[in-house]
Amino acid sequence: MTKAVAIFLVITCAAATYFISKYGVAIDSSMVRNTFNTDATEVGQLLSSQMIPYVLFLIVLPVLGVLAADIVYKPAARHLRDSLKVIALSLCIALASLYVEYNAIFRAGNVSNKYIVYTLIPINVISGSVNAASKSLRPYFRRQQEDIEFSASVAAPKDLVVVLAVGESSRRKNFSLYGYERRDTNPVLRGIENLHVLDAIATRASTLYALPMILEKSGIKLTTVTSRAGVPTSCIVNYTLYDNCAAVGEIKVGNCGHGGKCYDEDVVPLLAQNLDSYSSGQRFIVLHLGGGSHGPAYADRHPPEFQQFKPMCMDADVANRCSLEELYNSYDNTILYVDHVLGQVIHTLDTSQVPYVLIYVSDHGESLMENGMMFHGVPPGVALPAEQAEIPLIVKSSVAIHIDKRSEYQQPDIYDSVLDLLSIRVGRARALKC
Ligand SMILES: [Zn+2]
Repeated sequence: MTKAVAIFLVITCAAATYFISKYGVAIDSSMVRNTFNTDATEVGQLLSSQMIPYVLFLIVLPVLGVLAADIVYKPAARHLRDSLKVIALSLCIALASLYVEYNAIFRAGNVSNKYIVYTLIPINVISGSVNAASKSLRPYFRRQQEDIEFSASVAAPKDLVVVLAVGESSRRKNFSLYGYERRDTNPVLRGIENLHVLDAIATRASTLYALPMILEKSGIKLTTVTSRAGVPTSCIVNYTLYDNCAAVGEIKVGNCGHGGKCYDEDVVPLLAQNLDSYSSGQRFIVLHLGGGSHGPAYADRHPPEFQQFKPMCMDADVANRCSLEELYNSYDNTILYVDHVLGQVIHTLDTSQVPYVLIYVSDHGESLMENGMMFHGVPPGVALPAEQAEIPLIVKSSVAIHIDKRSEYQQPDIYDSVLDLLSIRVGRARALKC
């Protein structure tokens, strides 16, 4: 048993070491979940001859060592004392190695104070596996929560299509609409009249946790409420909204132009198709613009024709290999593309002539080396830096709407606004008391 655990740890840690050193990835529960969802071709792409030394020195030799070791179980007290000695010695060696590499680790830690934790082997492998296991088991335990008794009905039926477009990693700071002056990143939206350009705040900086801030309240998904109220509901996604559309399912982009590579704009034909069948009544459509401004491969988020600001940062190791100028150019190209896609969504809605309200909000922002931070995600309990918290909230409608004036809007406000617009009343069943 001891040997089996040791061999398992040796193999998983060697794999983690390899991926961290080659791809600079952080190993957390989402990486472990990804590993289980990786198919054979992806594994083929990831395998390379560079792995041979890792396999030899980090797997084969240690495993042989483990197998050859003769484990003698001594009386408990002695066993504990001897084990503590070995653990203390290992810790000293580990701390000494850490000290030698202190500068490099300190710099990496500065860039992302979250990810450094996830590069500590084997803590990352163990905690990632435990988290992934608990996350995959959670649905079974959550069933009770999902079965929260509630009723939903439309109080005042009308003709209205509510479209909620959810963006990815796009921060307010780089939108010209919000005063970005370095260059014009919103040539399309700037030309559209009657846009409500509002300030919103994100409180979670990882997509997995940020999406429910918009699409879930008290354990109940927004799409579950709208569909239960009888409002035809659809989720059109590039990438995925995870389980936030479980009640209605996701319609994924497909048959994409650009040589089969899908981008956020590929949700637009599916939106048009949906609107084609509209004649009257209410509808709710969630558009997931999941490419958005997600790093590190910013250039992969848009078709090549949107590579307008150059030179761009083409290396995934943006912190060490790219200048700030290149980083901003790359990121601004993604905002330019968000501008284009939103313009297309609005154009599609306008030409369809359906009565509509469109709400666009990003899931969270992005740090671009401000205060030494990069990308998004901070440890739980730590407030998001402004760049990751301050997100755009843009509303456009073809009908008269009233927007409460506030200096800042929260993501959960969107949940309530959608229900308000569709005049959906939610009733909670109360537990009977004796
Ligand atoms: Zn995200």
